[in-house]
Formats: sequence, structure tokens, C-alpha cells
Amino acid sequence: MLKEVSKNIYYLPHDETTDRPTLGYIRGKEFSVMIDSGNSKRHVDLFYNGLKERGLEPPKFVIITHWHWDHTFGIASLNSKVIANKLTNRQLKKIESWKWTDKDMKERLESGEEIEFCDKYIRLEYKDLNEIKVKTADIIFDKSLTLDLGNLHCEILLVGGPHSKDSTIVWIPEEKVLFSGDADCEGCYSGEENYNKYELARYLNILRETEFETYIHGHCEPMSKTKLINELEEELKSL
Ligand SMILES: [Zn+2]
Repeated sequence: MLKEVSKNIYYLPHDETTDRPTLGYIRGKEFSVMIDSGNSKRHVDLFYNGLKERGLEPPKFVIITHWHWDHTFGIASLNSKVIANKLTNRQLKKIESWKWTDKDMKERLESGEEIEFCDKYIRLEYKDLNEIKVKTADIIFDKSLTLDLGNLHCEILLVGGPHSKDSTIVWIPEEKVLFSGDADCEGCYSGEENYNKYELARYLNILRETEFETYIHGHCEPMSKTKLINELEEELKSL
């Protein structure tokens, strides 16, 4: 179930059925790391089964790429320590107090706090809304953080960009791999619905300057840097 990028990098592919994003795994000599917590306990279990099949150790840390539900609602089902930037954590703190009844969810749609797309998929993932538990992170950083896994490093960087102000990327220089969450996508919440040209251009510059070969996206198959840059340049031209 887990796909192999290299002997130290694996991922559980995204699944559109209930909008489950890609979950990443970085195998270190000292400890291992997971990228994003998934959208539910079922999603986390699937990832752990994938680790077991390959004889991989459970991750010591989980790095969150941004606050959106599909990347964070698995946090409550994890034993690992969770790392997030302070913008992500601030948002998680807010959502922690939300109630998950049909009525509360409808009210949030009306107020614009939630969007139709997420409401639909949350209801598809959670037949029983009472199962939803939102938890904040354990380790909070400001702009960047480096993890030394012994044989390789995770460079965690808050980049913002067109999708969400708190978008964080994880770069593994030794493997030339970059996990991006949804950082290059257009925004979806109120006030950020359109593709922000300025933010996309700024994010493109960060990508150009970062040395990687494989880009692992939250909702697409991995792609090469060349293909990614070409596609985003086309997108930028069309805006
Ligand atoms: Zn997202």
C-alpha cells in the first residue's frame, strides 16, 4: 500500500473518495518522520498497516503541512509528537472548540467559516460525526525547523503561498525530495478563493531555488521538478 520513492522515502497515495491526502514517511537512522496526519483514525490505520507490511518503524514525529481538516484530523489518533508552525496551530486551537453536530456544521457553512467542499467530504469520511476529534500540535515553530534523522535531514519551512497562509513544505536535501502538502493549489476558504498571482509567483521562486528532483504533492502523484515548474509557470501566465 505504501509506495517507495527511495529506500528512505515512502508515501501512502492520496484517495479522492473522502479527500484523503498523500501521507509521507521518511526513514531516518535515529528516528523516522511522517508527513501529515491524515483525515481520520481509519486513514492513520491504513498508513500504519502500510508501515507494518514493509517492516518500517512507527514515526517519532509527524509534521503538519497546513491546518485543513484532511491533513490534521488524524492527529488525535497518533502516538507520535506532532510538529506544526504557529499559524497552523492557532487555527487548530480554534477548530478544537468546534462542535460536530449537523446543526453546528450547517451554521458554519452559513457563516462562511466552513466551505461546501470540506463539509461534503467530512460527512463522507465520518458516518458518525461524534468520532471527530481535533487536537493541536506538541511542538510549535515560528518560521523554520530542522530535524536531524542521523543519515538525513528534514528542513521544515513555512512558505505560505496561494493555497493557505500557513502552508509548510518539508525538504529532504540528501534525497532531493520535497513534500509540499497543497502549497501550490489555489485557495479555497473565504477571502482566499482565487489563485493569488503574487503568492504563486513567490512560491515558484522558492521552488526554483530549492534543490530537489521529486515533488510529493498532497493530492496528486509525485512529479519531477521540471514538470512542476513548467505547469506552474503555465498556470501563472493564465492568471
Ligand atoms: Zn489544503
